[in-house]
Amino acid sequence: MTPESQSTPIQSVNLARLHKAVRQRLQSLKRAGLTHLNPPIDTDWDPSKLTPAFAKTQELAAGTAIESFTMATSDPLPSPTNIPADSTTQETPTPESPEKNMPSKKQIQLDVVCQEVSQCTACDELAATRNKTVFGVGNPNAKLVFYGEAPGADEDRQGEPFVGRAGKKLNEIIEAMGIQRKDIYILNTIKCRPPGNRNPSPEEQTNCSGFLQRQLEIIKPDYIVCLGAIAARSFLKVTTPIGELRGEFHLQGNIKVLCTYHPAYILRNPSKKRDVWEDIKYLMKDMGLKIPKKYL
Ligand code: URA
Repeated sequence: MTPESQSTPIQSVNLARLHKAVRQRLQSLKRAGLTHLNPPIDTDWDPSKLTPAFAKTQELAAGTAIESFTMATSDPLPSPTNIPADSTTQETPTPESPEKNMPSKKQIQLDVVCQEVSQCTACDELAATRNKTVFGVGNPNAKLVFYGEAPGADEDRQGEPFVGRAGKKLNEIIEAMGIQRKDIYILNTIKCRPPGNRNPSPEEQTNCSGFLQRQLEIIKPDYIVCLGAIAARSFLKVTTPIGELRGEFHLQGNIKVLCTYHPAYILRNPSKKRDVWEDIKYLMKDMGLKIPKKYL
């Protein structure tokens, strides 16, 4: 038996009770007026391994951890029974895990960025005309991220990406993959609706890129699917037509990036659906997901 595998006093502690006690203690400190914890809670954190943008997230997460800890009511992690056998997520708690009802570290970090996004005024026009910012939605442990263009009217009203007609089409794609919307993560090049659904400008995309970078550094997906030319060109920093970008992976660091047509484009050009399925099947094979017979 290695020294590590021997039982230690901490193992005999009831972790659920420990969590409850920590939560109560944090709530009581908050009531008493404490707003920041310093140094960061995560003692094994190594900021030297991160980009400046992400280090900022972590720094803020430490400062707002009490807020997030006590205000978050649910963790979007799917219950293990809902996860496909081939698994589209990472670090999923086991059914016995006392952590299953706690916001995960990644969720707390995303909440910090989301809070900043909601107050962003970097783009005058967008900040003045938006109803809600559209941060992104899904599983903080997702292996797969769908990356769209920009919020439309429905998304602006609801504060969630891909909830309108194009969203329904995207949901069909996700379901056909044999996975669920809550197993993956969905976001856009920008977080606010461009008035009249115009294309997001390069300046708006640049203004928003720090938020995207921080989201991706938290989620750490293995795959990103860029939906449409705007998303694909913005992510890959190219001007190549989408028809030439699709059909193969573009490696960006450790992430495999696949580009395909936007769901709204398929709605207008149903004949392109076949191409999208070819792209999605290519992705599924690489992810080790079983392709349903009817799509073979
Ligand atoms: N189209 C997009 O690209 N993103 C959305 O969130 C909705 C529609």
